[in-house]
This record gives sequence, C-alpha cells and structure tokens, in this order.
Amino acid sequence: MKIVIAGAGAMGSRFGLMLHQAGNDVVLIDTWREHVEAIKKNGLRANYNGKEIAEPIPIFYPKELSDSHKQVDLIVMFTKAMQLKPMLQSIKPLIGPRTMVLCLLNGLGHDDTLQNYVPKKNILLGITMWTAGLEGPGKAKLFGDGEVELQNIDPSGEENARRIVDVLKKAGLNGTYSGNVMYSVWRKACVNGTLNGTCTLLDANISEFGATTVAVPILKSIISEFAAVAEKESVILDQEEILQHVIETFDPNGIGKHYPSMHQDLIKNNRLTEIDYINGAVARKGKKYDVPTPYCAFLTELVHAKEQILKAR
Ligand code: NAD
Repeated sequence: MKIVIAGAGAMGSRFGLMLHQAGNDVVLIDTWREHVEAIKKNGLRANYNGKEIAEPIPIFYPKELSDSHKQVDLIVMFTKAMQLKPMLQSIKPLIGPRTMVLCLLNGLGHDDTLQNYVPKKNILLGITMWTAGLEGPGKAKLFGDGEVELQNIDPSGEENARRIVDVLKKAGLNGTYSGNVMYSVWRKACVNGTLNGTCTLLDANISEFGATTVAVPILKSIISEFAAVAEKESVILDQEEILQHVIETFDPNGIGKHYPSMHQDLIKNNRLTEIDYINGAVARKGKKYDVPTPYCAFLTELVHAKEQILKAR
C-alpha cells in the first residue's frame, strides 16, 4: 500500500517505521530541516525496544512533493493538533478521490478540520495508545506496546476503514475497528484534559498531582464539563468510569511517575501546547452550546499565560 506519513516526528516515525517494515511503500513528510536532512542522509534511525536500527525511508519537505507522489492510498496525519490545518493545506495535491486519511492526533474537533480537505467518506478518525519520542533529529525512541482504534466518520467508509485496520494489524500496530470512535476520542480527551494542563502548570508528575487533596475534585469538575459539552454532540460519557480510569493513572507503579506530554512539550522542550484542542476546545464548544465550562476556560488561559512567560514556540 502507498502510504504517506504527514508529520514524521515522534509518532510519525513509529508508524512510518512499522508500516515500512511490513512492506508498505512509505513516504515521510516533514518541515523540520535538521530532522529531514538527517533522515535523508542516514535513513530513519531508532532505538527500537533497545535495538539500534536504521531504515532507508524516503522523506520530503512538502514543497518537494511532485506528481510522482500522487495516488496515495493512505495518509496518516501525525502533526501536533495546531499544525493539522497547515499540513493538510500543504499536502492538498496528494489527496485524491480514493485517498483515505487517518487522523490519530490527540484532541477534539479534528474531524471538522479534515472535512475541509478530504471527502467525508475517506476520513478515518481514531485514537492510539502507542507512544513515541525523539532522541534528536533523525532518531526516534520507540519502546513498549500499543494499539489503534479507528472508525470511518461516514457510514459509507466502513469497508475502507476495515481494510486500513488490516494494514495496521499486519504492521504490528494492533489496529481494531471501533463501533463508537467519538466516545473513545472524548474519553481520551478527558484523560488529557484532566492531567495535561494541571501537571504542566504545577510542574508535577501524575502521581504528585494525584496525591494532592484537590486532585479528585478538580478531575470531577473538568470531566463534568467535558460530559456536558459532549452530550450536546450526542456523546454520552460515563463520568464515573472515566474518573476511575484517570485515578488509576496516579499509581506510581504504573504510569504515575510520567509527566504528561504537554509538560514535556512546554516545560522540557519550550514548545507551544495542544491546550486549544483539549480544554480549549471544550470551552469554545461550551460557549457555542451555552454550557458553562469555567475550569476548562481558566486552565486554557493559564497554560497560554505559561507559554507566553516561557516564550514557547
Ligand atoms: P511531534 O512534534 O514529535 O511531531 C510532529 C511533526 O510534524 C514534527 O516533526 C513537525 O516538524 C511536523 N510538522 C508540523 N507541521 C508541519 C507541516 N505543516 N508540514 C510538515 N511537517 C510538519 O509530535 P508527536 O509527539 O509525534 O505527536 C503527534 C500527535 O500524536 C499529537 O497530537 C500528540 O498529542 C499525539 N500523540 C502523541 C503520542 C506520543 O507518545 N508522542 C502518543 C499518542 C498521541
């Protein structure tokens, strides 16, 4: 299958590498100069579960795309949420009438953005529990296991969605077809919406935040705002189950010692965050539906203030 990975950072490298190793014709696209040049020179290098590997996967800047890159079967989007629109704009010529576009970004509202560039029947939305990091330009750090849950957003896309699930399975990416992907997207957004902004602002890992007396009340307030807004979009969240799911992450013997990705983006790497697509999206949607979302709105403003204080880019 001819596959383009649109955004070959941490997650794009993982998916690109595993799909390439499974025999697909994979092309990476990215704009980060040092990263692109390193991969052009040395292939995509990775510490892959402790083993050092390098795979010669073609990589291009969007401006280098030509007619030979057209007729793509699948595009996997892996930018940060705020980069999705500019990426879609720059790869527009690659999106043909039969090109499936799979979006596994964290956050809410990506289906609306995708519909401006891709026919609805070709859009696949999902979530992934895989993780990935970068050791530096051209080199990924890929440990552990994960899975992908996806679904077509238009009923006519089911056959194609199931075909892509098979492609992911063959690559060891553990794809499954979801019967209700919007629920999963909102549920994952609740996890990110309760832990990312809070741990970033508090400069705390998940266990440290979870051990405070205010953690559970804060979780409950944020989850109830997500649930009230989701309901307006016909997604009925099980708030108690989601609360328990987040509380389980506090365990220091599980993932509790980890800092959420937003903390790594802003505090460690001085990068702008995806807050506008998590709590910010809930605050925006809340305004639209006349649903109060004071916690999400305040958290979003505080994270933006922190981005400005740290001069994040
Ligand atoms: P990343 O920053 O490592 O990768 C994004 C890449 O996209 C970068 O290399 C960047 O240069 C490139 N890019 C951005 N805009 C571009 C454009 N217009 N044209 C070309 N290239 C462009 O991010 P990531 O960690 O891989 O995360 C991607 C998404 O996956 C995010 O939504 C994140 O929340 C989600 N996610 C990440 C993980 C993880 O473990 N890293 C796990 C689950 C979900």
